[in-house]
Amino acid sequence: MPHKRILVTGGAGFIGSHLCEKLLNQGNEVICLDNLFTGRKENILHLMSNLHFEFIRHDVIEPIYVECDQIYNLACPASPPHYQFDPVKTAKTGVMGALNVLELARHCKARVLQASTSEVYGDPEVHPQPESYWGHVNPNGVRSCYDEGKRMAETLFFDYHRQEGVDIKIVRIFNTYGPRMRPDDGRVVSNFIMQALRGEDITIYGDGKQTRSFCYVDDLVEGLIRMMNSRDGFTGPVNLGNPGEFTMLELAELVLKLTGSASKLVHKPLPQDDPTQRRPVIDLAEKELGWKPTISLADGLEPTIAYFKDRL
Ligand code: NAD
Ligand code: UDP
Repeated sequence: MPHKRILVTGGAGFIGSHLCEKLLNQGNEVICLDNLFTGRKENILHLMSNLHFEFIRHDVIEPIYVECDQIYNLACPASPPHYQFDPVKTAKTGVMGALNVLELARHCKARVLQASTSEVYGDPEVHPQPESYWGHVNPNGVRSCYDEGKRMAETLFFDYHRQEGVDIKIVRIFNTYGPRMRPDDGRVVSNFIMQALRGEDITIYGDGKQTRSFCYVDDLVEGLIRMMNSRDGFTGPVNLGNPGEFTMLELAELVLKLTGSASKLVHKPLPQDDPTQRRPVIDLAEKELGWKPTISLADGLEPTIAYFKDRL
């Protein structure tokens, strides 16, 4: 693959920092743009001395002008407590961020990939979820700022593609975990591991029978890069996730086993509109990208637990 100049918005975040690292290792020039809302300089500190890496502190709700060949648009808080902290800002980031990267892509004739989400399926009535499912999303609940922002971003991507000929790629990412998640992130994997390591109660929201499918970050990043470099005319949306499906009770038991913790499980109220089930159909990714996850939940939790242990 010829080397490229690549813009990664949200590049100082959890997934973004792994993506920047891999793109640099492949010999590309990487421009990481981030407002450091949930991202941290610590995530990209080890890349700062690389002459092919640049960091720009910038907010994607403002226009962006940098020359580039490819754009990965990851800028957006992803954890429910973080995206619900300032919901108006989250909606702006989803929608205006998409508009600004699309304008840049049009201007530079760059290819642009949108990090969409399994949240576009809402609380799904079709299980598992194929890309053809239109979803079951509350338009005015506490999760809507994120879900509808991401849905509008998909709309804008397709309209810029149809109307302006912009070269777009859309991936729908299912729950991803791994090192560099924030210990205070609020998502289930980081919460359970931190609670287990500290000997605190494990907080199960609701009865814990709701399911999620967890993908290790290295698998996900491989899928993002394959999608960006997929054949002309293949826009997606394509699901990227690990089809292994677990209840939150099963996840808690696995974390307790792997950490050797004696923490107890306690039940807390289920947040509003919490999806009851989620599992990707990944046939399209397998067919178009030759991609499927290779790392099991137990194998991926080990380095994740080691990362959090280091931080204690
Ligand atoms: P994260 O919060 O670690 O990363 C998001 C990054 O975007 C952070 O560095 C943050 O500072 C930055 N950001 C937020 N708002 C911004 C703004 N207005 N301008 C510039 N930068 C901004 O979360 P993550 O898990 O790494 O998620 C990355 C992307 O992947 C997000 O778009 C998210 O919606 C998507 N995604 C993630 C998951 C997952 O399970 N991790 C699932 C589905 C979709
Ligand atoms: N969850 C939980 N305990 C926690 C954090 C989350 O039981 O401490 C549950 C949450 O209610 C949801 C699932 O775990 O059903 C995944 O939550 P997360 O916030 O990680 O992601 P999302 O709901 O966006 O998939």
